[in-house]
Amino acid sequence: MNLSYWEQQSWFANIDFAIIGSGIVGLSCALELRLQHPSAKIVIFEKGMLPSGASTKNAGFACFGSISEILEDLKTHTETQVIDLITQRLEGLKKLRKTLGDDAIAYKEWGGYELFAQTDTTLFEKCTEKLPYINALLYPIFNANVFSLVDTPFGFEKVAPRAMFNAFEGQIDTGKMMTALIQKVIQQGILIVNNAPVDSISESDTTPVLTIDNTCVSAKKICIATNGFAQQLLQENVVPARAQVLVTKPIKNLTIKGTFHLDCGYYYFRNIDDRILFGGGRNLDFKTENTSEIGLTSVVQDHLEKLLRDTILPKTPFEIDSRWSGIMGVGSQKKPIVKQISSKVYCGVRLGGMGVAIGSTIGKELAELSSQS
Ligand SMILES: Cc1cc2nc3c(=O)[nH]c(=O)nc-3n(C[C@H](O)[C@H](O)[C@H](O)COP(=O)(O)OP(=O)(O)OC[C@H]3O[C@@H](n4cnc5c(N)ncnc54)[C@H](O)[C@@H]3O)c2cc1C
Repeated sequence: MNLSYWEQQSWFANIDFAIIGSGIVGLSCALELRLQHPSAKIVIFEKGMLPSGASTKNAGFACFGSISEILEDLKTHTETQVIDLITQRLEGLKKLRKTLGDDAIAYKEWGGYELFAQTDTTLFEKCTEKLPYINALLYPIFNANVFSLVDTPFGFEKVAPRAMFNAFEGQIDTGKMMTALIQKVIQQGILIVNNAPVDSISESDTTPVLTIDNTCVSAKKICIATNGFAQQLLQENVVPARAQVLVTKPIKNLTIKGTFHLDCGYYYFRNIDDRILFGGGRNLDFKTENTSEIGLTSVVQDHLEKLLRDTILPKTPFEIDSRWSGIMGVGSQKKPIVKQISSKVYCGVRLGGMGVAIGSTIGKELAELSSQS
């Protein structure tokens, strides 16, 4: 990297904690480490010009899971595991709101709806039948019945006339959240080095060393927060999962307000700044979408547009303003992996589609783990 003496000394020498990845987990981990180690040198290495995984690409749902998602989770996880995960999502969101403040992240608790395709009466009936059971399961966490059946609002078409409503669901402005988080990190004297992809990690004489562009950087401890890109540095059960999104141009007199889940959560949309942000469709082509490459496909984008035209905005003309994709980290279990990898290396990865809610808690857990041992 042809570093000057000053660059070497200020950014790369005597690092106490090196964090890899400046998504919500890496940044939250850094803040928590600062609380526990007021004078430590903490440096975050980020491969992109901006955070380049999921944290600046997501839909900004502050959610705990729709009824169909929870029922799906109960097929592969115990009740206790499901309750633990929902509690973790609730606690994480509280932490994020407390750390940054509701204004800074534009938090709005406008509620969330699960919509059911007109053709999928089986799923609707199953969710309706299980409604009392799920409400009883979650009652101790929320001290209230979380889900209720309501008339499907906002003139959506080709969906069932009734929908599931969750009054506790909110939404944030993802860009505002991440800029506020980065500013807070910088205020705490934590360094962020961008355009710094870590190629490998090794450990000699118990000092971990990371390599960036053939330059070795040692740190007393290394925390890996690379989520969907985890396979590059770790041997853990984390698979990359791309998610594609689009946003419309501003729509006059848009009345749609809230967060919406459709087709078992494979599609999701919300209002933002008089626009509709709409994402999903990974299930149309899992094979192609299981990638860590940013990119768009016509299979997914065309279907998103069709659903927008036929279901979400059937009577409203709209234009697409922009499209993008982001990379999530998923695996055979939904639970994130927070783990010690070797004597001085730790990871907090596999956040799935839950990172807005759970990212702060996982960052904190990663910081605590790396502080202990
Ligand atoms: C389109 C989309 C919509 C989503 N919608 C929602 C939602 O509405 N609600 C919700 O809760 N969750 C949502 N998610 C999931 C959520 O965004 C993630 O769970 C969360 O952002 C994960 O945070 P993270 O810090 O673990 O990972 P990331 O944000 O992916 O951060 C990892 C960082 O590591 C960097 N990195 C990777 N490899 C290296 C390397 N070798 N060297 C240096 N840096 C590296 C990456 O560039 C990246 O910035 C969505 C995700 C996507 C993609």
